[in-house]
Amino acid sequence: MVIKLKFNICLLGAVVKRDFRPLIKKTFIFVIKKMETIRQTPNWKGNIKPQGIILHHTAGGYVGSVSWCLDPKSKVSYHCIVDLNGNYTTIAKDNQRAWHAGKSSFNGRKDCNSFMLGIAVSGDTNKRRLTEFEIETVSKWCLSKMKLYGFGLDKVTTHREVSPGRKNDVSIEAETQIKNKIQELLNQ
Ligand SMILES: [Zn+2]
Repeated sequence: MVIKLKFNICLLGAVVKRDFRPLIKKTFIFVIKKMETIRQTPNWKGNIKPQGIILHHTAGGYVGSVSWCLDPKSKVSYHCIVDLNGNYTTIAKDNQRAWHAGKSSFNGRKDCNSFMLGIAVSGDTNKRRLTEFEIETVSKWCLSKMKLYGFGLDKVTTHREVSPGRKNDVSIEAETQIKNKIQELLNQ
């Protein structure tokens, strides 16, 4: 009887180890690592009422890209830059006209900086795939802005689409993954 009970406990231990530990570990890592840092960029001018979002990649690494956007010499900024692990830095307030789109046009309206938010992942999405953490963070960020300012998924676009021929960010694959995730969150 005692032997049988011990055997069952051992079996239960094996099941718990095999089936749940990776899941718990994965969830734990995601929850503890997704953090927001707030740093105010000097690279903005004027106020906006957000009516859409442009998805970008910075081409450079995360830390360097954040530093570059905090440097007045760069004259570049996004509202948010996301790290590979899902952490992100907010560098401009939503109502600040950040400098991320340059010469651009969306649905026939020029100067996208004047009415759209910019969020960027690091690196080059044409050369690497997004991590699941990036997809999660970018999608949740976009969804929160969509709800806050009352616009739909059709107002989420890419730098590639608003500056055709001049910019290639983000890749079609990255855009599809992010939009699919936003739609999935909308359906929940
Ligand atoms: Zn861009």
